[in-house]
Amino acid sequence: MTLLAGKRALIFGVANDHSIAWGIARAMHEHGAELAFSYASPMLERRVRPLAESVGSDFVELCDVTDDQQIEAVFAKASDQFKRLDILVHAIAFANREDLEGSFYTTSREGFRIAMDVSVYSFVALSRAAQGLMPEGGSILTLTYYGGQKVVANYNVMGVAKAALESATRYLAADLGPKGIRVNAISAGPVRTLSAAGVRGFKSMYREFAEIAPLRRQISAEDIGGAAVWLASDLARSVTGEVLFVDSGYNILGVPSIDATNRT
Ligand code: NAD
Repeated sequence: MTLLAGKRALIFGVANDHSIAWGIARAMHEHGAELAFSYASPMLERRVRPLAESVGSDFVELCDVTDDQQIEAVFAKASDQFKRLDILVHAIAFANREDLEGSFYTTSREGFRIAMDVSVYSFVALSRAAQGLMPEGGSILTLTYYGGQKVVANYNVMGVAKAALESATRYLAADLGPKGIRVNAISAGPVRTLSAAGVRGFKSMYREFAEIAPLRRQISAEDIGGAAVWLASDLARSVTGEVLFVDSGYNILGVPSIDATNRT
């Protein structure tokens, strides 16, 4: 299947082969997209470059999204090499570890600032840069989590950041819609990644998830990749400003609990 044949995607957020961004990259590659990658810090290059090469990409550029000059440089390089972009994937989040446990009210001013800057403002900055390379329209995607809509223990400042990210998705969709650029978020169920490991209690939440979610199955990065391919493809041409749940249906439950019939 080649839903993305002829499309060029710039992907932010691959740290290793467990990253959701890598699941998205593989799915987009299978559907014929040409891929480019950006990674956060010099020490990640040795992991990201071989992954990029395995899907035929030699565009692997450093960009710490808290630095405007690095953002400018990566898009200048993309402009030189590709002339235009069709797809931007933003799969980036960060909060200090101490802000992902205990009570939310203990979040420091600096911890709040960092979480919002890396996890939310970066989406605004990358979208602004990408739209200049999308003269014929395009698709911009970000990754969010249910903890932005409901309280999830220990998710704390990241939940507040995800709420802002989902709102930013709608504001950007309204701004960029007239240019034919669609902006959507995928709200993924729990996936075992580097970032997820930073949230206290993730392991037990992850274990119980498949016993509670209506589809009784975990989420894989491939599942998210499938939804991302659809959102980035012309099949989703009238969809923008949405938060699409890829979570085995978990979010539809009013009182999530392990069904008595499931208990052993
Ligand atoms: P991950 O650790 O593989 O990816 C997070 C990425 O953010 C990494 O590549 C990291 O290098 C990058 N990053 C952090 N700070 C950065 C900076 N200053 N500049 C550039 N990049 C930076 O983990 P993941 O779970 O794949 O996370 C990807 C996205 O998916 C995040 O937005 C996360 O909140 C979201 N998400 C994850 C889950 C889950 O359960 N894993 C569920 C829902 C949503």
